[in-house]
Amino acid sequence: MTIQTLSNLIDGRLTAPASGRYLDVFEPATGQLHAYCPDSDAADVALAAEAAQRAFPAWSRLPAGERAQLLNRLADAIEQQQETFALAESRDSGKPLQLARSVDIPRAVSNLRFFAAAITQWSSEAHAMEDRALNYTLRQPLGTVACISPWNLPLYLFTWKIAPALATGNCVLAKPSEVTPLTAWMLAQASIDVGFPPGVLNILLGSGAQTGQALVDAAAVKAISFTGSTRVGAQIAQSAARQFKKTSLELGGKNATLVFADWEGSEAQLDTIVRSAFANQGQICLCGSRILVERRVYAEFRDRFVSRVRALRVGDPDLPGSDLGAVVSQAHFDKVMGCIALARQEGGEVLVGGQAASVPGRCADGWFIQPTVIDNLGAGCRTNQEEIFGPVVTLQPFDDEAEALAIANGTAYGLAATVWTRDLNRAHRVAAQLHSGIVWINCWMLRDLRTPFGGVKQSGVGREGGTEALRFFTEAKNVCIAFD
Ligand code: NAP
Ligand code: MG
Repeated sequence: MTIQTLSNLIDGRLTAPASGRYLDVFEPATGQLHAYCPDSDAADVALAAEAAQRAFPAWSRLPAGERAQLLNRLADAIEQQQETFALAESRDSGKPLQLARSVDIPRAVSNLRFFAAAITQWSSEAHAMEDRALNYTLRQPLGTVACISPWNLPLYLFTWKIAPALATGNCVLAKPSEVTPLTAWMLAQASIDVGFPPGVLNILLGSGAQTGQALVDAAAVKAISFTGSTRVGAQIAQSAARQFKKTSLELGGKNATLVFADWEGSEAQLDTIVRSAFANQGQICLCGSRILVERRVYAEFRDRFVSRVRALRVGDPDLPGSDLGAVVSQAHFDKVMGCIALARQEGGEVLVGGQAASVPGRCADGWFIQPTVIDNLGAGCRTNQEEIFGPVVTLQPFDDEAEALAIANGTAYGLAATVWTRDLNRAHRVAAQLHSGIVWINCWMLRDLRTPFGGVKQSGVGREGGTEALRFFTEAKNVCIAFD
């Protein structure tokens, strides 16, 4: 297999890093090196920031409809190469090809189309003061902004940020994770092909500590939209505060799935609960990793759930029968296996899984983990408090609604929660009391791109999605005109 050498996109050109240094990129399913990624530093960021500053006046003055047209052309370009993008995403991240085909790449296309449409439909407010004055709000782009995304949903989250940033008239410096840079690099080429003006979209590849930090610190950058871990989010917030930059931080989670005794209990619902636990090997910030079940139905639910999980197939991401692929890296594999060892030390009973999975053939050296279900742990232990971000979930019983809420709300995180019940009153009552930014009732990951998206507590600050994102990437200016 040829090893690809990736490049940055700076000022409309694919560019090698100034230092000439590259990082190794691996294919999780095989453990083999498959690309070299620029190890960009402050010098590359400075060039990109200058290009962005030059491009900003013309880009921000372009009518919204013309910016929208370019975003739509970029969406078309991805769609035309959908299979190539899906293959690259699966190869780079270890996720089942089928998932990349059905979720990641179509969603990247939708993100671009959604914000292209949104910007042409957006309006601002006016505040009339009877017969004395009229206030109106201008929402103007910030200038140059940074978009930093993680490895779990690479192109999906990358486009989720750059689309609203560009639609509102900003120039962008964007960085995907060094662990999964391939589709961002392909997007760079596509943006040249469809005719984005040089400097409007710049893509810098490299590590978080070096490239990411340089983006956050660059004086030209007015705002940072970041999705990733709580630890890095805190660092970014501190760095950004020194220069009063706006931040939108979408961070970690320890989401609860609440199953009440009055849930419908159908096989289809059970399927969704299994998916909400293990989709993308559990590496989705919205996965429910703590499943809380009303005691009256606990044993029955546990047995049904475990037998479903036992039937999941871990395998070569290329094969249609693989429900789970590989986790993203050796480091992440080690982290998740460490979490399973900790759960055992804490007294957890592994009901299914608990080990690496061996996948023969070309995947013999890949980073595969069996879907794992752990019982018998208290709500306060580390396993039930700390984010694992892998195919590992715990089961806990509860006696009543109050206890379910106390356990669900009893972590430092608050991103999403899922509630399974047929009682409509209960559904509304519990949704209102959950400490999380998102609540799903009798469904999971059903996404309307207009809705606010984000978390509370250590799951983040700020909201993305719909007009929330358009507001984040603009500065509101009030204009007051007096008349008599
Ligand atoms: P991460 O280590 O925090 O990295 C996220 C991004 O930030 C990567 O591009 C990373 O670069 C970069 N980065 C690292 N250090 C940086 C620094 N000092 N300055 C600027 N950028 C820096 O997170 P991850 O391990 O990639 O992703 C998993 C985490 O993301 C989980 O905690 C998950 O819950 C969270 N997540 C949250 C959401 C949400 O919507 N709330 C969605 C998805 C994922 P490198 O990777 O190249 O080092
Ligand atoms: Mg990382």
